[in-house]
Amino acid sequence: MTLISEEEAELVRPSGAECLLCGQSLEHGYLCNGDTLATARRLDRMPRLYEALAAFLHPSGRRPELGRTRPAEAPLPVSETVLGLRGPGGIVGVLEDWRSAMQDDRGWSEPAIAGTTGRRVVVAARALGMNLEWIASSWPMAGAFAEEIRDLERDVASIINPPEPSMRIGNCPAVYADGQVCGAVLRVLAGTTEVACRWCGCEYGPESWLALKSFQPDAATPGGAGALEARPSRA
Ligand SMILES: [Zn+2]
Ligand SMILES: [Zn+2]
Repeated sequence: MTLISEEEAELVRPSGAECLLCGQSLEHGYLCNGDTLATARRLDRMPRLYEALAAFLHPSGRRPELGRTRPAEAPLPVSETVLGLRGPGGIVGVLEDWRSAMQDDRGWSEPAIAGTTGRRVVVAARALGMNLEWIASSWPMAGAFAEEIRDLERDVASIINPPEPSMRIGNCPAVYADGQVCGAVLRVLAGTTEVACRWCGCEYGPESWLALKSFQPDAATPGGAGALEARPSRA
């Protein structure tokens, strides 16, 4: 990250000129509401993204939590990028560095670091999320922070959801109150890490995608979901 002092930041632009991420004009503060909310959601997703990356470390291995299911897109090489993102300078390092800088600028003591990397990701993301209101309204570093969090998510997305126009991950297994299965086609847009059924609104995080693939009764039959697609699916 590039750090400039608070004084320098104030010289570059007065507080309240514009959102440091998208540039729209603001009455006050450093991030617009939309970017504040988007950053909050990204921070919220970080622990799941960290976990989801594990499936892409060892393509021939299997994830115990998914039983005997092997990653369907398996033949990827073990990725240096994945190792990097899960390593000390990856997700955990970015979050902890920003948390440390934030606490320092608020006059708080250095945060204690403990536990597994996964746990540290949870703790750092939560701490930043809890201070997001202050970050957006009062921290000149808010723009650089929000940008790096956005880029971090994009880096993860490029691995767990490679840049193709959209990836079909199966049919929505949600069951309506009347017992009928939703069945709409679920697609993930490139560069994103969340998929929501456009028919029933159910949301599926990346940690559930592999399970979704294995949950498709008609997955082996080309066009096997025809009956389901005959419904007025908006997907
Ligand atoms: Zn903005
Ligand atoms: Zn659905």
